[in-house]
Amino acid sequence: MAFTHGKILVPIDHSDLSRQALATAVAVAGPFDARLLLLTVIEDRFPYPDMFSFENPEGDYYRVMKARAHDDLSALAAEYPALKERMELYITRGRPYDKIVEVAAAEKADLIVMGTHGVGGISHALLGSVAEKVLRHAPCPVLVVRQKDYERA
Ligand code: ADP
Repeated sequence: MAFTHGKILVPIDHSDLSRQALATAVAVAGPFDARLLLLTVIEDRFPYPDMFSFENPEGDYYRVMKARAHDDLSALAAEYPALKERMELYITRGRPYDKIVEVAAAEKADLIVMGTHGVGGISHALLGSVAEKVLRHAPCPVLVVRQKDYERA
């Protein structure tokens, strides 16, 4: 594991929790002079995207969502001006857990830092579905920030 000058992948879905995960990633990156790769995955939520618009339907949907994700990631990155040179933004489309694992491998990430809400109810699962799948398949260590840890802070 090469954290020094390494790369930390931070999947961001723009919940308060993923902002907290970014703050954790920034704290970890500091002493190691690591770089941060902020990733947002745009989900293909619509089974029939051609119902969305008449002209170039899928392209429209993706283009609008991509521009918005880029603005949101840029605003988040701007909260850490000292790390400007060490932060990179990455936007892609697909299923979040697939893409998080795929980008971690392609970019040779040394660590993934992400949030998890977990779910209540009968299962009382510790991890949410995205975090669980990433943990199972990630090619590198994963640091998970739970909603409860964050609320306690
Ligand atoms: P869920 O609440 O859907 O079960 P988890 O609680 O397991 O999901 O995971 C939430 C975390 O997953 C977020 O903090 C973020 O790190 C990551 N994540 C979820 N959706 C996306 C997305 N579209 N793009 C990037 N990261 C995402």
